[in-house]
Amino acid sequence: MTSAAVIDHTQRDPWEVATEQFDTAADKLHLDPNMRGILRECQRELTVHFPVRMHDGAVKVFTGYRVQHNTSRGPGKGGIRYHPSASLGEVKALAMWMTWKCAVVGIPYGGAKGAVICDPKTMTLQQLETLTRRYTTEIAILIGPERDIPAPDLGTNAQTMAWIMDTYSMHAGHTVPAVVTGKPLSIGGSEGRNEATARGAVYTIIEASKHLGLDLEGARVVVQGFGNAGSFSAKLMAELGAVIVGLSDTQGGIHNAKGLDPNKVDAYKRETGSVVGLPGSERVTNNELLELDCDILIPAAIENQIGEHNAPKITAKLVAEAANGPTSPEADRILYDKGVFMIPDILCNAGGVTVSYFEWVQDLQNLFWREATINARLKEVMVRSFNDVLQMSLKHKVHMRTAAYMVAVARVAEATLTRGIYP
Ligand code: NAD
Repeated sequence: MTSAAVIDHTQRDPWEVATEQFDTAADKLHLDPNMRGILRECQRELTVHFPVRMHDGAVKVFTGYRVQHNTSRGPGKGGIRYHPSASLGEVKALAMWMTWKCAVVGIPYGGAKGAVICDPKTMTLQQLETLTRRYTTEIAILIGPERDIPAPDLGTNAQTMAWIMDTYSMHAGHTVPAVVTGKPLSIGGSEGRNEATARGAVYTIIEASKHLGLDLEGARVVVQGFGNAGSFSAKLMAELGAVIVGLSDTQGGIHNAKGLDPNKVDAYKRETGSVVGLPGSERVTNNELLELDCDILIPAAIENQIGEHNAPKITAKLVAEAANGPTSPEADRILYDKGVFMIPDILCNAGGVTVSYFEWVQDLQNLFWREATINARLKEVMVRSFNDVLQMSLKHKVHMRTAAYMVAVARVAEATLTRGIYP
């Protein structure tokens, strides 16, 4: 259902965090103050209020947003989330992060994000379809294959994208598949999209291991979260000969120092609803899971999992952030001081948006690629991007997260500068 985690509202304001991260990179880059002023704001922020007739006949007015942070490098790209606590500040932060994510992997998009304040879990399919079609109509002044291309996020899925594509196409009078990505295969979706985030993360782990001299054959891996990103990451790491010693979901974690078979865990979870209780495994809490003895830790669940309280106890040599925002800024510093190598989220999980880009390209060309082609092109993007960030980190002696922001901000600044100020 989801491709991104909820921002924890007990934590700091996401827009404040996003601008602070930007300022750190801007300082290191000695960014011109005028450019800093431009990139520190969102270019367009649309708020819409629209009525939806509910099944009891009552009319309910919903609030939604679509924000484009920066479109200097190409059309806006970013998901749409349906969540009760969505807010403009959160959407702005997510849009800014999308700008950096697209720039760090060098795909020709700017950053955007959208949301509707609603609780999809309490709505019927019919209401969700009506809400989606009306919201699409409201934001149609911003979206389009050359302008801004939404995708699924928390609370939305491939079916939601199908409704958006259909609504937009009805208005246009012809079918426009390239207006959204993350669509079902039957209407222009891409092969390889399901596993793309995990596959991209694993390509960066392979590169990091070469840099660290870490042998992946026999390396002990812990994965937090066994959903889309986590389960495929575990399976792909096991295929490389790594030993999966710990896994978890919302119910808790499981541990076996000799190794867990992710395919068996998947089958068990499908049968019972959780990884917990897998025969031959020992139960651990989610907190214990993160501190298990291992070489590689892959947070693939939600944000704010590694903080000041547990960062000193992390034993992994390498942390690969398949999830968005799993590490707090304080924990980041602790891990850096301990010598833990970090593959930051905007780089590590960018495989998802990269294959979304491939979906858009295929839709525009009406020419669809085989899965092997998708994976080979994804590998090329992830390997190149990892090495760009690593070089920045070594050159400026900064940790990988700051380096990733520096690579991204420099690319967006260059595009913005080259285009100049209109009029
Ligand atoms: P998902 O809903 O498929 O899976 C999430 C998993 O995390 C589930 O197994 C759930 O049980 C588990 N989980 C939730 N809360 C937990 C907790 N407190 N402790 C342990 N496990 C918990 O979601 P997903 O699409 O795999 O996304 C996971 C993370 O990856 C998110 O941060 C998301 O933003 C990020 N991400 C995903 C994609 C993608 O394409 N799916 C792309 C970029 C980033």
